[in-house]
Amino acid sequence: MNIAKKVAPVVLFIAGYLFGIALMLSGPSARHDANLPGGGAPDLTDDYNRLNFEYFKASLPPVTIQRIDDKEMPWLGYTIQCGPRCFQISINSAWAPAQVSQEETLIHEMCHVKLYVDGSSELQAHGPAWQSCMLERAKRGALKFLW
Ligand SMILES: [Zn+2]
Repeated sequence: MNIAKKVAPVVLFIAGYLFGIALMLSGPSARHDANLPGGGAPDLTDDYNRLNFEYFKASLPPVTIQRIDDKEMPWLGYTIQCGPRCFQISINSAWAPAQVSQEETLIHEMCHVKLYVDGSSELQAHGPAWQSCMLERAKRGALKFLW
């Protein structure tokens, strides 16, 4: 058997693997997950990508975002960690009906993601590290509608 026939699949596998990593690193920082209830929220995914670039130096990982409309849930937004760099953000349009309030809720949740990514050991969800994250973004105009 020709050595090229033995090596080619390995080379293709490695090339595909490296291409996958390159795509992951250069791709958008949020993704639209059509499998989520309501089909995800592509507009909020676009907002996440823009806000990540504008206010977080594109340092936040890809996330999955969904919009829910549930007055029974006592929160505007919620973030869960599904893996080391896997997060799901939910925005509750029942309590954040306007686009601007959803965007500002997204900034709030993105500061939670930042703390996870930074490995913060802060036990309080809205403790000094989270407040510092919010204040820093507010100073740069990220929350100019409310603050
Ligand atoms: Zn919070």
